[in-house]
Amino acid sequence: MKQKIAAMILATSAALGAGATGTTPADKDNTFKYTDEQFADIQMLRYKVEGFDKLTLKQKTFIYYLQEASLWGRDILFDQNGRYNLRIRQLLEAVYTGYSGDRDSDFFQGLTTYLKRVWFSSGIHHHYGCEKFEPGFSADLLREAVMQLPADKLPLSPGQTAAQLCDELLPVMFDPAVMPMRVNQKDGEDLLLTSACNYYAPGITQAEAETFYTQRKAPADPRPVMMGMNSRLERDEFGQLTERVWRVGGMYSPALEHIVDNLLKARPYADTEAQQKVIDLLVEVYRTGDLRTFDEYAIYWLRDTQSLVDFTCYFTESYGDPLGMKASWEAIVNFKDLAATERTTKLSDNAQWFEDHSPVAPQFKKEKVKGVSAKVITAAILAGDLYPSTAIGINLPNSDWVRREHGSKSVTIGNLTDAYNKAAHGNGMDKEFVVDEATRQLIATYGDACDDLHTDLHECLGHGSGKLLPGTDPDTLRAYGSTIEEARADLFGLYYVADPKLVELGLTPNLEAYKSQYYTYMQNGLLTQLVRIKPGASIEEAHMRNRALIARWAYEHGKAQKVVELVKKKGKTYVKVNDYAALRDLFGQLLAEVQRIKSEGDFEAARRLVEDYGVKVDPELHREVLARYERLHLSPYKGFINPVYKAERDANGQITDVKLDYTETYDQQMLRYSRDYRSL
Ligand code: ZN
Repeated sequence: MKQKIAAMILATSAALGAGATGTTPADKDNTFKYTDEQFADIQMLRYKVEGFDKLTLKQKTFIYYLQEASLWGRDILFDQNGRYNLRIRQLLEAVYTGYSGDRDSDFFQGLTTYLKRVWFSSGIHHHYGCEKFEPGFSADLLREAVMQLPADKLPLSPGQTAAQLCDELLPVMFDPAVMPMRVNQKDGEDLLLTSACNYYAPGITQAEAETFYTQRKAPADPRPVMMGMNSRLERDEFGQLTERVWRVGGMYSPALEHIVDNLLKARPYADTEAQQKVIDLLVEVYRTGDLRTFDEYAIYWLRDTQSLVDFTCYFTESYGDPLGMKASWEAIVNFKDLAATERTTKLSDNAQWFEDHSPVAPQFKKEKVKGVSAKVITAAILAGDLYPSTAIGINLPNSDWVRREHGSKSVTIGNLTDAYNKAAHGNGMDKEFVVDEATRQLIATYGDACDDLHTDLHECLGHGSGKLLPGTDPDTLRAYGSTIEEARADLFGLYYVADPKLVELGLTPNLEAYKSQYYTYMQNGLLTQLVRIKPGASIEEAHMRNRALIARWAYEHGKAQKVVELVKKKGKTYVKVNDYAALRDLFGQLLAEVQRIKSEGDFEAARRLVEDYGVKVDPELHREVLARYERLHLSPYKGFINPVYKAERDANGQITDVKLDYTETYDQQMLRYSRDYRSL
């Protein structure tokens, strides 16, 4: 139940968040470079582990061993995704590194793209659509290339020749009829026989597997384990179904032994005793495969909210199994975002000041307000089913009864969001949609920082501000409630991001910075968010409605004074902000009105505001924006290259420091992982 936000949607929303080129002044680290490698439908990004150098040696060492544990699980997912994947990867890598022919040839270029896709998907099927991708080169040329390689470079089975190897693996790659889908969900077909994933031995039918698990279900167990989640279903020598459990001494043992080894190395450096207990339980699960212990581990894990460093590293999500039981292996190591925490603490500490000084009528203000701190984390490593394609928010554990009785842990991953934003810079959106060079510069300099700040103000203060009048039913705004609520929080942020108080608190550098946020907000609300709407449709989603509502209301109400204009240049429409101070006034007026609507429960006013400004789309402008967006050819899917962790050690092998290196390219990283973390 992690928020598996489709990369396609993300790519679009990130592209809308900002629109500028260049890097922020915060990018002092010279080795760090954002990357723009593209292949097939994919763009590779890099994320920065901001704040790592400020951690203590103990914390760095803890992260070092945890990321080692994470990387050792890589081969598991390849095998889970299909039983030929590991050997196909090895075959392709042998050709990729050992090919003596023309590396500029169509064959080699096609093979390179295909291999990059196999790495990306941990197998031969699309990571998102699940369909097998087509190699852009011929099977004959691959066979020729394989035959020229030394036998010791090839993934030969005992006694197998290179020719026999090709006979075995090439149809799996090239024949569209062989293993066409990794996960088939088509109703009416046998989902196991038609899916290429490797969670069930070949020949086991859906009915057999379902019967097997139904019979094992304990009747009326209020706390059922997630049956089958850490095993492959197979047939024993008598033809009976049996589970081969993924544990030390069982299936995937070579990989799991390395994982356990590194978890134990990490253990002494854990933040707290509670976290050591979490590791102990996880190691026990790896050793026994016991699912009751797994639930116990999950409870201890979700309760630990104090540790700065946190991680998950086990079989977790079941999207890869058509029956939704077997969990794919994944890992993420992370720590609390120190900079974000510092920002939100400053805001929370001053929550009452912000409430007292807002433009809202006094009777709608809270006498006593408490800010909340945002739970933002910084990813330190991504692995298994979270690499290279990843989620940006995670909510675990998945067990229903554990969630019901003990709750869950929910985080957003700040540095990944940031990397998506950075990717949006220079993707052409800014050149296409920002009105002039001066505004582009403004956004390039302050855009990201003010964007984060606006989010913090929205989350930490905006939603928590204001109060209902006595007797107002909180549900009176009904279907318009969430749009009004999001508008209220956004307006609170917009009003205050321009306030001198933020300069005083050191959160903005000067009284210019906020203009970047005002511009991008208006541009997004009036123009660019339309790229997410299908032609002919109107705006439905609450956040999008709220942004359209705010931007259009401010545009209309400032029209006489030309506060914001829509100007045409060479037939293209641009947003032009003429008077930022007046725009702030408008945001303040609307905030006061939206708060009044909420406090009094004025349904009719809410309905009019949303329907008049937040729903309808100008078809002509919509067509224009869609056409301009289409021409930018943005990659729909994105993934991440990990940083390299380098441990410096003294003569006794003790770690004395851990350094990050961001220079590794995508293919270098994948080849290194295949070489150094090969376990299966
Ligand atoms: Zn919100």
